[in-house]
Amino acid sequence: MAAERRKYARKYCKYCEAKTDYIDYKDTRVLKHALSERYKIMPRRLTGNCKKHQEMVELAIKRARHTALIPYIIDTKNVVAHPFEQLQ
Ligand SMILES: [Zn+2]
Repeated sequence: MAAERRKYARKYCKYCEAKTDYIDYKDTRVLKHALSERYKIMPRRLTGNCKKHQEMVELAIKRARHTALIPYIIDTKNVVAHPFEQLQ
């Protein structure tokens, strides 16, 4: 999908732009933009997030994993093409 490619080109913090103070770990639509296709947290060098918001994202994703809203990936050989379709 086209939106998937555009996000890699961004080098500014989209959370600062949106003046985000809190990232809701229950909102998987927000969190999925911070995850790779293997459910890994996107590194800051790709997302352009500032340190403050990257830490918020990491905390939200860790909470979402803990509450089973998003899966942990253990088998790195099994790449899911559309991991978030099953969440909706
Ligand atoms: Zn920020």
